[in-house]
Amino acid sequence: MSLSIPFDNTYANLPANFYSKLAAKTVSNPSLIAYNGPLAMELGITGGNDQELTEIFSGNKIAAGSDPLAQLYSGHQFGQYNPQLGDGRALLLGETIGSDGVRRDIQLKGSGPTPYSRSGDGRAWLGPVLREYLVSEAMHALGIPTTRALAAVLSGELVLREKLFPGAILTRVASSHIRIGTFQIYAAQRDWTSLRTLLDYTVARHYPNVEGPLGFLRAVIKAQAALIPKWMGVGFIHGVMNTDNCQVAGETIDYGPCAFMDRYHPMQVYSSIDRMGRYSYSTQPDIAVWNMAQLATALVPLMPDGDEAIQAFTKAIHAMPELISQNWRTIFAAKLGISAVQREDEGLINALLTLMTDGQADFTNTFAALGSTSARDQFIEPKKYDIWETEWQTRIATEKNPHALMAKSNPVLIPRNHRIEEMISAAIIGDYAPFQRLQRALSAPFEQKSEFSDLRLGPSVAQEVKATFCGT
Ligand code: AMP
Ligand code: MG
Repeated sequence: MSLSIPFDNTYANLPANFYSKLAAKTVSNPSLIAYNGPLAMELGITGGNDQELTEIFSGNKIAAGSDPLAQLYSGHQFGQYNPQLGDGRALLLGETIGSDGVRRDIQLKGSGPTPYSRSGDGRAWLGPVLREYLVSEAMHALGIPTTRALAAVLSGELVLREKLFPGAILTRVASSHIRIGTFQIYAAQRDWTSLRTLLDYTVARHYPNVEGPLGFLRAVIKAQAALIPKWMGVGFIHGVMNTDNCQVAGETIDYGPCAFMDRYHPMQVYSSIDRMGRYSYSTQPDIAVWNMAQLATALVPLMPDGDEAIQAFTKAIHAMPELISQNWRTIFAAKLGISAVQREDEGLINALLTLMTDGQADFTNTFAALGSTSARDQFIEPKKYDIWETEWQTRIATEKNPHALMAKSNPVLIPRNHRIEEMISAAIIGDYAPFQRLQRALSAPFEQKSEFSDLRLGPSVAQEVKATFCGT
């Protein structure tokens, strides 16, 4: 059966100043690395042999019903406003409505230059493509809202970064690619008509039950306040929470220099370009609030009464830290086996995190082992942990089934940085076995399988990854 993608495009019908329509730049010798069959099915995609999939997901052929375009946006990068960004190496093929009734974007990443490429080549190399494929799918399996990976294709061409690397193209799926920065660009241009059009479109697509700019702002705040504590619960550091990388539907987007922590430290940073630690593990909630303030600023001009609007918007932003704290408490309490969380439980959680910092404990392995002897082995001074454990046991004695709650709140497997690096090194020389193995392991991150026990180990000193890169 030949490949059929039931495109049903709406972004392509928005005004022409929202995007540039263009085809992908063809590549010389593409080959398929990975195709996510279950996701394809959810999207309503049917059929397709390897050759067809390769042609479509390399951008060499335009599928029937596709109306490819690069989206325009701007954004604050590390706090500095950049008036024009946009898809510089990505192309929206179109949208489909999935079996769950949800409309989703299908986008190529690494598909060649667009009018928004600035000095970039519009390409991606194999490393970041496989990294995003694995990490985004792992996030999904961990139950965290995220963009997904539908396909990865080797382009057959070389891409120049620090040196020449094999080029690749990722097909990304998202409930949309509308970012805070998509709103910011029209606000900065004082183009209120486009801003209003975008708001109406986004509300209809993502939050059909809310009303007006304030209702929309509150809905996005709620979604982001739910997302960030979920990241923290698995030790995830996004690494580049610029407003152009903050999607208004509340999915994790743009897996560049992101990383999962091995040893716990609240100030942990991996991204090589985050020199000031703006996007460290524990600053993520503050940055999410800052980002929402930028969205609020962009939306205020759409309100009839400026002063009153500013007050209402300010109130919504000021309520966000407490919203994040509540969600954070619930998530970390569940990690300790506590279902009926009390405000006082925060003390117990923070006491453990402090011990983990001082004791250089592995984040994932400590939580996964709580209550067993191997938890105390995580700490430099296990006796200090013993005292905490006694207190914790007392607290959970009144819980009905703490261990069942812990088992579904504490993954045993995360995509560890050193494993990702190892997987990329192998893929560069044509060995995709580590990629496939990681994919299998990470599809069930809460299951203890002996065949994957090596993937649970933290890195040795020699294996430790100190920095991650945007890799574009
Ligand atoms: P990012 O930090 O990955 O979110 O990218 C920031 C901006 O740079 C976006 O507008 C991207 O489209 C653009 N960009 C990143 N890499 C490239 C590339 N290789 N070619 C063209 N544009 C790029
Ligand atoms: Mg980006």
